[in-house]
Amino acid sequence: MDSLNGKAGKTMIDSHGRKIDYMRISITDRCNLRCQYCMPEELPSIGHTEILRFEEILEICRHAVSLGITKFKVTGGEPLVRKGCLSFLRSLKTMPGVEQVTITTNGVLLKSCLSQLEDIGIDGINISLDTLNPEIYEKMTRRNEFSQVWDAIVATQASKIRTKINCVLLKGINDHEFFDLIHLARDYQLDVRFIEIMPIGYGKGFEGFDKKDLLEKIAEKYPDYQVEHRVHGNGPASYVNIPGFKGCVGFIDAIHGKFCDQCNRIRLTSDGILKLCLYYENGIDLKKYLRSEASSEEILAAMQKTIMKKPLEHQFHLTAKEGSEELKNMSQIGG
Ligand code: SAM
Ligand code: SF4
Repeated sequence: MDSLNGKAGKTMIDSHGRKIDYMRISITDRCNLRCQYCMPEELPSIGHTEILRFEEILEICRHAVSLGITKFKVTGGEPLVRKGCLSFLRSLKTMPGVEQVTITTNGVLLKSCLSQLEDIGIDGINISLDTLNPEIYEKMTRRNEFSQVWDAIVATQASKIRTKINCVLLKGINDHEFFDLIHLARDYQLDVRFIEIMPIGYGKGFEGFDKKDLLEKIAEKYPDYQVEHRVHGNGPASYVNIPGFKGCVGFIDAIHGKFCDQCNRIRLTSDGILKLCLYYENGIDLKKYLRSEASSEEILAAMQKTIMKKPLEHQFHLTAKEGSEELKNMSQIGG
């Protein structure tokens, strides 16, 4: 049951009754870090001609808007390493029908872009930071960039842009820093969210924590914490408030707290695949359409038909299902 009629502002409902209004766009698979759970030290990048040009991405966004998708997250690889990222963000933010544009970044190049991002009117920045210890940072990311990221986080406090810190907590690596990390939300005007590690690509080699584990830790130290009912974004994160904290602590319980029944998102990879679910490889190669003689109507119809096939749920709890499980790394998908 698809209530689409081809105009901006319409609603896209998939075949499982979910409203699809959010697209994550990976604008590059390149990155200036090498987080161990995300990508290897050496990984050939997608060839120059295979990467969607910004005009092509904007064309897909225009079609997405007419399907009812109005919220966009720009990610990577590391989005800020791609030349032209800021003008792309400006074009996307000013596109008729676009309601919200946010970015996810590792923060290394963020500080010098902050005032431009503010000027563009970016609606939110998620900064990924898993540790407050520069040595552990270097081990986890294989790069010595902690101070750049930290300076960017401090700089966000003087900007009006809503900021969230994304942490992946891993057993035996950074879990001893859990309270130091949640104390960022005590001391700064930002939310701190814990993403449960997903068994995608290099993530398979690590053991993480789910929301239940982390809430138990919080309850021991902060028994007065309260569940936050206010909606904080477009995603599946749930939040708690801890008395005296400036921001909230959130959880993206990707594996143990399956939230597929409320999934509102599709993904566009930097080489033009419209992906329907993180777990499954399937989708549609929009680059082929864009670089063929296909008309706008044909591209729109192909996107609509594909979105209707969005799977009901991920299968991360099963062993690999030959032929359907996603084989890309997270850096190639965008998280
Ligand atoms: N480079 C940017 C960054 O790090 O924020 C954007 C892309 S990165 C792939 C987006 C998010 O995915 C990061 O917060 C990262 O920690 C997370 N991530 C990467 N691999 C993951 C995995 N296997 N499971 C869960 N989260 C993962
Ligand atoms: Fe790069 Fe982000 Fe992956 Fe880290 S998580 S390697 S910063 S894409």
